[in-house]
Amino acid sequence: MANTPDYSFYDDVNQFVDKAAMHTEHPAGLIEQIKTCNSIYKFNFPIKLEDGTYKVLEAYRVQHSQHKMPTKGGIRYAETVNEDEVKALSALMTYKCALVNVPFGGAKGGIKMNARSYSPQMLERITRRYTSELIKKNFIGPAQDVPAPDYGTGAREMAWIADTYAAFAPNQVNASGCVTGKPLSQSGVQGRTEATGTGVMLGLREAVNVKEDMDELGLTTGLEGKKVIVQGFGNVGYWSAKTLQDEGALIVGIAEFEGGVYNEKGLDVEDLFRHRRDTKSILNYKDAKNVENSNELLEWECDILVPAALENQITEENAPRIKAKIIGEGANGPVTPEAENILIQKGVLVIPDMYLNAGGVTVSYFEWLKNLSRVSFGKIDKRYDELNNLRIVQAIEKASNTTLSEDVRKNLVKGASERDLVLSGLAETMISAYHEVRNTMKRKNLKSMRTAAFIVAIDRIAISYLDLGIFP
Ligand code: GLU
Repeated sequence: MANTPDYSFYDDVNQFVDKAAMHTEHPAGLIEQIKTCNSIYKFNFPIKLEDGTYKVLEAYRVQHSQHKMPTKGGIRYAETVNEDEVKALSALMTYKCALVNVPFGGAKGGIKMNARSYSPQMLERITRRYTSELIKKNFIGPAQDVPAPDYGTGAREMAWIADTYAAFAPNQVNASGCVTGKPLSQSGVQGRTEATGTGVMLGLREAVNVKEDMDELGLTTGLEGKKVIVQGFGNVGYWSAKTLQDEGALIVGIAEFEGGVYNEKGLDVEDLFRHRRDTKSILNYKDAKNVENSNELLEWECDILVPAALENQITEENAPRIKAKIIGEGANGPVTPEAENILIQKGVLVIPDMYLNAGGVTVSYFEWLKNLSRVSFGKIDKRYDELNNLRIVQAIEKASNTTLSEDVRKNLVKGASERDLVLSGLAETMISAYHEVRNTMKRKNLKSMRTAAFIVAIDRIAISYLDLGIFP
């Protein structure tokens, strides 16, 4: 779906907020403050291309809310980047962080460009220049504003950002906390790469385990055998598909910009990823049907549809033709407010972005904590726990006069690694937030899970203003 000139993503987000605010009793001025983008930095900078010519790039960093510091949110490299989009995405970060209780304000950044048309050398130059522009204006720093990956960026870009920032801040011991989503070798954390997709899986798994809700949708409980179509095979799409498949779901379709593939018996996600890497296209995958117009795939038969690419994908135009019973928003803003109304009337359960893709920022929070403390999770207590567990196991073996097999004993004794702890924190966050949102939905008798999620987030942000006495 193209972003037409009259489409405003930021207006869409605010429409969702207004709808939720009607169910709260906060003063209008407070809601206005919550909705406002506090700081908007738009800048241009020149780059010298490999052929010797120059090009001026348009770039942004928006800090939507500083009610918690630092502000947090990804950096997007895409042709669609504009002020409206960055504002919308930064606002979503504020609500997302509040909802999952991650103590950051929302921010987002972007450069208007197609990352695919630049060499890695050029991308490095552009990323370092973008970072130094942010440094000049104090729009980056572990206590100020902490970027992360988004569409078109990944661990490699985050490493360049961290390295550039550190060069300008040689005396800051926590400098690596200026950005998250870094490679492990550059002070990243285990599990960050797969965090958003794993969070999508955890949220969907929670949803399909509620029998009452599945009965209403005419679905059985559990992910086993559920037919899933995923739009987008980037970081979020790939990891959502892979982890859902690991949990027994059938990934029947994957859509990318060059087209889509479909196999009702299920695609092998890892193998399809290799196929795309080797042939540079998702199309012509063994035993799968090619779908030339990948937008069409959103309308094909499935239980769960996961749009995990960009905003404005399910609109009033195609919403009536959607067949999925559950839509899990892996991307930010894939369903417009008008489309959501149509889907709700059709009885579709829409699990909103601000909840479902919050796994990324949740693990970013863990990475930032690791960078501030300068110690990896598990380093101090893993072995201590193992020794303790071993003593308990040995005492039980002695008292019961039994000897456990080596495998069982190993499992019981094992201390938590960084990866175990990160995944456990992620699961705890996704599971408890799901039930908080669902309980609000039931208590307020709402049809939209998004409205319930916004209510939880707005209440939490409002408290941080009210407790400061800003709105007595
Ligand atoms: N870009 C991701 C998002 O939209 C991650 C943000 C972060 O980790 O700060 O949630």
